[in-house]
Amino acid sequence: MPVLEIAAGVIAVAVAFVVIGRAVRLWWKYRGARVITCPENLRPAGVSVDAAHVAANPFAKTPQLRLSSCSRWPERAGCGQQCLSQVAATPEECLVRNILVQWYAGKRCATCEQPFGEISLAGAKPAVLCADGVSVEWSEIPADRLTETLAAASPICFACHMGNTLVRSHPELVVDRRRPADSRTG
Ligand SMILES: [Zn+2]
Repeated sequence: MPVLEIAAGVIAVAVAFVVIGRAVRLWWKYRGARVITCPENLRPAGVSVDAAHVAANPFAKTPQLRLSSCSRWPERAGCGQQCLSQVAATPEECLVRNILVQWYAGKRCATCEQPFGEISLAGAKPAVLCADGVSVEWSEIPADRLTETLAAASPICFACHMGNTLVRSHPELVVDRRRPADSRTG
């Protein structure tokens, strides 16, 4: 019966959409770098969850979490991955990008004093002005050092970060306006 075949086809497509939709949501939820407290030394460590593995089991009762990387590997590669209980308990709070976005909330650029407003993860992101005066992008901060880096740093907007980087990499392009026009002093 063609009607039954069409109905079966529609149901199959609908089921496929549900499965794929759930897999994509799981993948999105568990992808990205995270900061956890390593149960072995009680210090921050940067980890990533194998998001593809979680997404491949979309209807598991509990998410099938396993690490794909850790800042303490390869030395501690054989660990029991007990830190995954922290990821399972608060998956959003330990996500590096969420920690960074929250850090800018209500702050202004340390250089131009523009407020940051809402930060788009798709567009040009603000940077971090470290205690040594060097501004770095998010990807340049090791996850296991994120907390201590942010504690001593200031937020800086993308435009000021670009200017800062240009001055550092091409100091010859910068005109020092404080220098007198004629520096021959005899
Ligand atoms: Zn700025």
